[in-house]
Amino acid sequence: MMVVLCILFLVIAAFAGHFLAGRAIIPIRQAFSRQREFVADASHELRTPLSVMLTSVDVIQTEEDQKLSPLSIQVLDDMKDEIRRMTKLVTDLLTLARADAGAVNIIKERFDLAIVAEQVLRSLQPLAATKGIELAIAGEAEIAVLADRERMKQLLLILIDNAVKYTPAGGRVGVLLKTAAAPKPCVTITVEDTGAGIPDDQRALIFERFYRIDKARSRQEGGTGLGLPIAKWIVDAHGGTIKVTSTFGEGSSFIVTLPV
Ligand code: ADP
Repeated sequence: MMVVLCILFLVIAAFAGHFLAGRAIIPIRQAFSRQREFVADASHELRTPLSVMLTSVDVIQTEEDQKLSPLSIQVLDDMKDEIRRMTKLVTDLLTLARADAGAVNIIKERFDLAIVAEQVLRSLQPLAATKGIELAIAGEAEIAVLADRERMKQLLLILIDNAVKYTPAGGRVGVLLKTAAAPKPCVTITVEDTGAGIPDDQRALIFERFYRIDKARSRQEGGTGLGLPIAKWIVDAHGGTIKVTSTFGEGSSFIVTLPV
């Protein structure tokens, strides 16, 4: 009888503890959710005035019969750069806030990843050329995947753009696409560069929001510190993994593995 009573007491105590702990967490969850909504709403609201500002600067610059001094022309160009940077920042913030809230749908379709990678490479060729960087793709000519096409494009853009940004003139950036059958069927995307490299103790940190090894360099390159967190979210949402290997001062390789 005593044993039964003890067990009953323990069950009731465990249930009450669980219930009270659950209730205590609710306000914290609500606070996080309100904060996420605030970031998403603020980012969304900021995009319209930013696009109006960019158009206004364009109008001033293209107006005929204007007599702008070289200094004013420079100031307007700088303004446009800053507006573009801020637009990228709020867009990235919005993506992560929506991802946190589970409000982004991953729409999977069958397509050839090699074609998407080539498109991304073409869009980044002019930037690589101005920096004197050789940008090339290798591997299998056709890579059939079932994934979200736009998110895959975004992932490749982040990784290849970073490789170009953090590689000095005369360097090389290579993209390698492969499929593997074992241990499980998967696709690997490797983006290698001969750039600045990443110190060992910072390899995990670069996937954290706003973490930058060299803030000034990232800013100068138009970075926001949100690229790799978005890349990681995309890979996670597809059930894949992202790894980085690097020798500081010699280069880095970002390796994404996606299940097929
Ligand atoms: P950012 O917008 O600053 O590029 P990311 O989140 O994409 O932000 O990357 C975070 C940081 O990781 C960068 O600021 C940079 O210091 C480092 N990083 C990312 N990719 C590379 C790379 N290919 N080579 C060297 N450092 C890199």
